[in-house]
Amino acid sequence: MNAGTATQPTGIDNQQQQQQQHPHTQHEQQIQQQHLVNSKLPQKSLESKGKYTLQDFQIMRTLGTGSFGRVHLVRSVHNGRYYAIKVLKKHQIVRMKQIEHTNDERRMLKLVEHPFLIRMWGTFQDSRNIFMVMDYIEGGELFSLLRKSQRFPNPVAKFYAAEVTLALEYLHHHNIIYRDLKPENILLDRNGHIKITDFGFAKEVETVTWTLCGTPDYIAPEVIATKPYNKSVDWWSLGILIFEMLAGYTPFYDSTPMKTYEKILQGKVIFPTFFHPDVVDLLGQLITADLTRRIGNLQSGSKDIKCHPWFSEVVWEKLLAKDIETPYEPPITSGVGDTSLFDQYPEEHFDYGIQGDDPYAEYFNDF
Ligand code: AMP
Repeated sequence: MNAGTATQPTGIDNQQQQQQQHPHTQHEQQIQQQHLVNSKLPQKSLESKGKYTLQDFQIMRTLGTGSFGRVHLVRSVHNGRYYAIKVLKKHQIVRMKQIEHTNDERRMLKLVEHPFLIRMWGTFQDSRNIFMVMDYIEGGELFSLLRKSQRFPNPVAKFYAAEVTLALEYLHHHNIIYRDLKPENILLDRNGHIKITDFGFAKEVETVTWTLCGTPDYIAPEVIATKPYNKSVDWWSLGILIFEMLAGYTPFYDSTPMKTYEKILQGKVIFPTFFHPDVVDLLGQLITADLTRRIGNLQSGSKDIKCHPWFSEVVWEKLLAKDIETPYEPPITSGVGDTSLFDQYPEEHFDYGIQGDDPYAEYFNDF
């Protein structure tokens, strides 16, 4: 996430927003627990414990910071390959009541396998931190490209939206709601295809859930209204993403999260005149509070979105096979391990690798 400019995940009120960046209420978390269902995903064998340790990697620069830690570029001391390691501080996770979300993130990342979703290779922990080893995606965030470009031409927005649609379709097919779609969480690989990262809010849910989470500009009205909600919150967010890619700003943007929430609940979207009529039609059906009308949530599910006239040129099978030319190839000049497309972050003294007293050990058994 780009410090300062990027939108942060949030809870419902400003005060909470200032105190913590990844909150949800404990009450809702408890309700939600009662409604969780068992995994329907194929149970891949868990990685053997201790498969990786910190000694397997040379820790390099910070690529991004999240709410409870940071993501580093690392290099395997064995094969010389580059990876990204997400490091989360246990005390921070516990303090911000994110134990369940963090364990979910690990479980979801282990299970999912899709060309447009980040791949995780394994996890490990020390007494203070947990570590998730992922592929390093060199092309940077879609967020940075969008801010640099201000806005994308219709075909470019359509290309990224189509890849995101396939990724969401896959997750929903496995009963996973992603819940934090936004340009900061979409990375570009060296060829310009997307990889969705940050499964910190992803949840396996068969029917409905209650937890208040997401990022203000992207949250669906039923989430703000603390109503039970389902997968279709991701289709709402897809609508916001398409709008932002085409306009350069989000439709409910305001100076504070509270004002943004009010606008979302009012639901009035003003489309720039240069929007193509087809996309206005699609967005009208995605960014609608009426769940009986929201496209993606109807009888044919994601098929309705894929068959919408705005996507008429998309050959979905070819896209899934990455057999379609990307609109932009990230300029990766200095070969593998190049980090020029990521913002710089101040590096701090890291407390990695300490093996000692661990008051939180019981919470992170799976890592
Ligand atoms: P997260 O806490 O997962 O949102 O990650 C914070 C930031 O780190 C992201 O917004 C990206 O800029 C960067 N990042 C996360 N995962 C990767 C990855 N696998 N490869 C490259 N950069 C990443």
